[in-house]
Order: sequence, then structure tokens, then C-alpha cells
Amino acid sequence: NFRCRSAFKLLEIDDKFRLLQPGHAVVDCGAAPGAWSQVAVQRVNSAGTDPSAPRGTVVGVDLLHISSLDGAHFLPHHDVTDPSTHSKLQQLLPYGRAHVILSDMAPNASGFKELDCEKLISMCLTLIDLAERVLLPGGSLLCKYWDGPFSHSLQQKLSCKFGSVRTVKPNASRKDSSERYFLARMYRKPIK
Ligand code: SAM
Repeated sequence: NFRCRSAFKLLEIDDKFRLLQPGHAVVDCGAAPGAWSQVAVQRVNSAGTDPSAPRGTVVGVDLLHISSLDGAHFLPHHDVTDPSTHSKLQQLLPYGRAHVILSDMAPNASGFKELDCEKLISMCLTLIDLAERVLLPGGSLLCKYWDGPFSHSLQQKLSCKFGSVRTVKPNASRKDSSERYFLARMYRKPIK
């Protein structure tokens, strides 16, 4: 059983798009209470449950405390938007590299819908910096956003860095919410 219902959104997205493969290294941003990390641990085999498959890595980060989980490393009390968190995440990844960045982050609601949307988009934009630091060429980024006037600019920025970007609305996500996910695949690493 999962720590939170949000697990079903990731299961649904991963069943359709096959992002998480055994042996993959995954960063889970906004990981508390840990349901997405539970899904990722199963799919990348980071707890070594299947001895015949390669063993992956799951690293989760959140502002909040996260109870420990077999197969995952957590960085609690860390802000994903802070560049110093990026170097700590990198140290926890094999060779400092990830195949997939997941983000189900959400800011605390201010009560002003447009402001919240904008805040979440600006948080998502920092994931592009994290990608530049850790994401392998060809890698994927899945991030939650709230649909609004700012989502298009995020989509455009992702499109500059990834070969394909699409919007996903899982059935497990409430129909009446503006919650969506961008699934950006085929990361093109900038050459420096
Ligand atoms: N995917 C999680 C799961 O399945 O258990 C649920 C994530 S919950 C919807 C959103 C999380 O984002 C919250 O735990 C919140 O603390 C975290 N969050 C918000 N802003 C953050 C930030 N700047 N850095 C890290 N985590 C953040």
C-alpha cells in the first residue's frame, strides 16, 4: 500500500510512457510523504527486489520530513529551488547522473489562484537548472503544473531543451482541478 493516493497518477503515467526502467537513477522532487518514491523504487528496482534485474537509484527531496523507505535516499528539509540542493542531490546519484527527474512539487496555496500558478511555474523552471546539472542526455523530466497563463512559457522553455514535450492529465487527477503534468523527453544536454 502506498503512502498517498498520488501514487496512482505516477503508476498511470508510467504504465503509458514507460519512463522508469530497472537500473535507472531517479530524482523525486517534492517527494513527501513518499508515494511517488515508492512507485519509483518498485519500477527501477532500487531495493533490489528482483535480483535478476539491474538495481536502480531513487533520491527524493522535500521541504518536509519524509519517513525512510527501503531503496530510497531522502534529503528532507531541503528546497529544490536552491542550487545548493542540486549539488547534494548530485552527490547521491551514481556518477552524479539521473535518467529521470520527477516533480510533484506544489507550493502552499496562497488563496490567489493565479499567484499560485505562477509560483509553481517558477519552481518548475528551476528544474531546468537541475536537469542541466544531473540529467543524462536522452533523459526525461515529468513535472506537475497548474494550467494558467504562465504554463505556455514553461512549455516553450522545456521545448528548447527536450526533443519532445507533451501535456499529461492522468485519470487519477481530479477532473475539476487545473493540475497537469509536462512530460519532457529526449533531453538535449547543452554542450559547454
Ligand atoms: N509526490 C508526493 C507523493 O506521492 O508522496 C506528493 C507531493 S505533495 C503533492 C507536494 C510536495 O512538494 C509537498 O510535500 C511540499 O512540501 C513539496 N514542496 C513544495 N515546495 C518545495 C520546494 N521548494 N522544495 C522541495 N519540496 C517542495
